[in-house]
Amino acid sequence: MSEGTDLQKKLFNNKKNGWEELNNEKRQEIFDYCNSYMDFLNNGKTEREIVKESRRIAEANGFTDIKNMEYLKPGDKVYYVNREKSMYLAVIGYDSIENGINVIGSHADSPRLDLKPNPLYEDDGFAFFKTQYYGGIKKYQWTTIPLAIHGVIVKRNGEKIEINIGEDQNDPIFVITDLLPHLAQEQMQRKLSEGIKGEELNLLIGSIPYNDKDVSEKVKLNILNILNKKYGITEVDFLSSELEIVPAFRARSMGFDNSMVAAYGQDDKICVYTSLTALMNIQNPKTTAVCIISDKEEIGSMGNTGMESHVFDTFVSELLNKLGINRPNLLDKVFCNSKMLSADVDAGLDPTFAYVAEKNNASYLGRGIAISKYTGGRGKSGSSDANAEFVAYIRNMLESNNIAYQIAELGKVDLGGGGTIAYILANKGMDVIDCGVPVLSMHAPYEVTSKYDVYSAFLAYKAFFRM
Ligand code: MN
Ligand code: MN
Repeated sequence: MSEGTDLQKKLFNNKKNGWEELNNEKRQEIFDYCNSYMDFLNNGKTEREIVKESRRIAEANGFTDIKNMEYLKPGDKVYYVNREKSMYLAVIGYDSIENGINVIGSHADSPRLDLKPNPLYEDDGFAFFKTQYYGGIKKYQWTTIPLAIHGVIVKRNGEKIEINIGEDQNDPIFVITDLLPHLAQEQMQRKLSEGIKGEELNLLIGSIPYNDKDVSEKVKLNILNILNKKYGITEVDFLSSELEIVPAFRARSMGFDNSMVAAYGQDDKICVYTSLTALMNIQNPKTTAVCIISDKEEIGSMGNTGMESHVFDTFVSELLNKLGINRPNLLDKVFCNSKMLSADVDAGLDPTFAYVAEKNNASYLGRGIAISKYTGGRGKSGSSDANAEFVAYIRNMLESNNIAYQIAELGKVDLGGGGTIAYILANKGMDVIDCGVPVLSMHAPYEVTSKYDVYSAFLAYKAFFRM
């Protein structure tokens, strides 16, 4: 080896593909973990389903609803479910909670189509549902793929009907149609953003007319009759429903080498799963370990299940109350002493679209968990931008545990941008940094990740809770 190569090894920030130098045992560990991850994705496509599944996993690991605990002591494991859509979990540390907590926050909602409040109509012999999209989607991607309907219909008397149709092999699926190329000359001149317009996202749900020549809207009537027999609902019950249209695809291993996961909703169920399983591995930590599974991140974190709400503050106050140490302003002090990983996906470099990335500061699939010191757009606007001191703390944690990581930003300067829940907790006084798994085709009906990075995120979150 020449003197130069030696020096290079010593001085350069050498980035390498994590699959290299990985023994078979380690590779199998990664594949096994990702099989469970894919099961998790198949068991939950909506925030309600993810919360339900996470609660089941937590209870199986000794967690209790905090409402059922009068007092708390170090080692206790509790959770709080907020309106079936967001959730907080904690393992109480033996160090005083006054010195801060270690938080990992992810979100369970993913881009999708929601039904409009008055969704059902008939047109030229077909019945359709009108939709409104949720989060940032490329609308054309949602046509001509199998779609499922998940959610709840709540009747006036409070009775709740759970809907999940399109996932079972024997279920029907639903499709949003697109124009045949032969007649699409005019449509093809539209900008890509309007290739399919919002009001063209109409879900095709039926075509058989009700057998009575005296009625109008026979197809709509036939659909309502089917729904009434199956769920006991009438058209007015749609007004108080939350029905989400999601891809009917299952999560699958991808590539001849099975190195990747293709699935709907990996943003950000990937960080829900990796942080949740990390927490399940924690016994008697020094610092109280907390997982946040938030909702509504994709539409700005507003609402009483979004991170902007004060429900999380109430949860931490409850920890203080039940530890018997609460006093005025203690909550603020706890937050100011706390550390947080805002666990959310990052844009992985896609060689086909490499022009949006600045190669030195992009995240690459297979190089480990991606850390973003800042997010935002147009000059870091709206980003909480982590302190160098905290970045050093996280770097040290990752390097001393031999966990592969990369520090990246979201695309080239002034090309776009994005945000997460990081700033919300940073505003409370916590040290916060964004980190998560690089994704290809983010927000598309089928997103791609590297199994190596999924496992790196799990290891990183576990290490963080042990600090
Ligand atoms: Mn996200
Ligand atoms: Mn997103």
